[in-house]
Amino acid sequence: MTLKAGVIGLGNMGGGMAATLAGKGFDVSGFDLSQAALAQAESKGVKPVADRKQLIQGVDILILSLPKAEHVESVCLGAGGISEFGRKGLIVVDTTTSTPEMSRKVAAELAKTGIAFIDAPVSGGPKGAATGTMSMVIGAEDADLARAMPILEGMSGTRVHVGQCGAGNVAKIANNMLAACHLISTAEAVAMAARAGVDPEKLLQGLNAGSGRSGATQVMFPTWVLNKAYDSGFTMGLMRKDVGLASDLADSLDMDLPLSRVVAQLWQASSETLADNEDFCAIVQRTDGKLYGH
Ligand code: NAD
Repeated sequence: MTLKAGVIGLGNMGGGMAATLAGKGFDVSGFDLSQAALAQAESKGVKPVADRKQLIQGVDILILSLPKAEHVESVCLGAGGISEFGRKGLIVVDTTTSTPEMSRKVAAELAKTGIAFIDAPVSGGPKGAATGTMSMVIGAEDADLARAMPILEGMSGTRVHVGQCGAGNVAKIANNMLAACHLISTAEAVAMAARAGVDPEKLLQGLNAGSGRSGATQVMFPTWVLNKAYDSGFTMGLMRKDVGLASDLADSLDMDLPLSRVVAQLWQASSETLADNEDFCAIVQRTDGKLYGH
């Protein structure tokens, strides 16, 4: 059976996911509060649906790509949402970077009406979503994952099933805690080497051939920082959200994590000078009020 897919949230990530599926011949509808996002998706072969109820009732699998956990709760459990209009057998795949608690709460509520919920947060940025190469870390029951797999394979390059519902968000929060650390530590390493007379581009070549390499040295600095483009498609506000989720998770587990706590403070303090809509890579410029060579 060919699954009919719907995407709620057609922003930087969801818009690319919907377009990727449409480009591969899947039947994809989309809903967003933003008319501009709907129009953009329509131009990529996605059927725009202005009425959320109609979208929820008309698909076999619903992909969510929303900013935060509170949006997931509202779309899933709020008035006029999935718990009200979703039919038995519907599968919800939440790609939002949310909280493990929210994933488990929503999954338990939706299960009461026979709706399955999978948390499958993603990595790879808008380019990875638009090319179907992004990765997913998935928290799901085996049977639900097997049913969703044709669509997940259509929209992602790598899928790692890390555990039961909620585990996907645990893994994603760990990933972004590392990315948040790597970006700042790479900025410090580049600034130090530059002041000592080494060209940043040459330094990155050396780092990427050595053990200091990371997503920051391999992707962020070469693609968005050294050329001063700062156009990754991932905002400061969303990264600060993710850093906050890591601190909350560490608190709930009664863990100190001394290095990550300092990094989290730097990200939260950046809100004084860097607005939520700026690119997340701009943190390299002002983490302690100084410019790292830019
Ligand atoms: P975005 O702000 O570009 O898109 C979110 C979309 O959701 C917007 O178009 C908004 O209008 C829509 N929306 C908000 N509330 C809605 C509602 N109630 N109903 C329907 N639509 C609603 O954000 P994004 O960058 O696409 O990120 C989405 C999620 O993916 C976030 O949780 C983010 O942390 C995560 N993520 C982003 C990236 C990235 O590089 N941008 C990478 C990995 C993960």
